[in-house]
Amino acid sequence: MTDCFHRGPGGVTHGIDNGGKSGPGATDSRVVVLSGPSGSGKSTIVNRLVEQAPVRLVKAISATTRPPRAGEAEGQDYYFLAPAEFERRRQAGEFLEYAEVFGSGYWYGTLNSELDRAARAGAWALLEIDVQGARRIVEQYPDAVTIFLSASSPREYEERLRRRGTESEATIRRRMEIARDELAAAGFYRHQVINDDLESAVREIAQILISRENELNAA
Ligand code: ADP
Ligand code: 5GP
Repeated sequence: MTDCFHRGPGGVTHGIDNGGKSGPGATDSRVVVLSGPSGSGKSTIVNRLVEQAPVRLVKAISATTRPPRAGEAEGQDYYFLAPAEFERRRQAGEFLEYAEVFGSGYWYGTLNSELDRAARAGAWALLEIDVQGARRIVEQYPDAVTIFLSASSPREYEERLRRRGTESEATIRRRMEIARDELAAAGFYRHQVINDDLESAVREIAQILISRENELNAA
């Protein structure tokens, strides 16, 4: 498998060499990135992992200009920002990465302060972000644990989104078109996990984190 996220064309690992300190470029970072098509179960799994805490884990709360869905809470699901505030923070360099996701006109981004919050707690930062964002994170944290989540049947995403009942038909259609491109990027992640059975998927990801934590502790 060509590991394009983690290795450059000459086999050179991308990233910033900061001499082994924590933060961008460090080789002992505790950063885990979870991506996958809409409906693959990312949010469900993130919540389960945070509850079960197989390793010390902090969910990095993203900022977004998308309006909250029913039941979503400020500072818990996202920091919901007005577009001008998102732009102000972007210009102030507060984002580690940001992207317009799904061609929706809405912006999403990971705040540096969220990774700092996790590091201060001595915990893993768990980022649920799209493929573009994952590439940017790996440039800065080449040793990040990257996990791509999918379902074995392509129909399943759509059915789950319909059952979730939070998106309009037009949004579901757009997300399904984008799912094809996202699935094409799955091979660039270090780990691919199938979420057909929720409990097995959570167990598998927990095991990936425990193994990496053990490696880091042994180093
Ligand atoms: P994402 O964050 O990737 O868009 P969600 O976590 O919101 O996906 O999951 C989409 C829907 O599918 C939710 O209603 C969730 O309860 C459901 N779901 C998650 N995992 C499974 C699974 N393994 N089997 C069936 N339904 C699932
Ligand atoms: P949703 O609107 O369903 O909450 O999220 C839509 C998409 O945005 C998902 O694919 C999710 O992974 C992605 N996303 C959420 N937060 C971020 C972020 O901070 N950065 C990037 N690049 N993508 C994000």
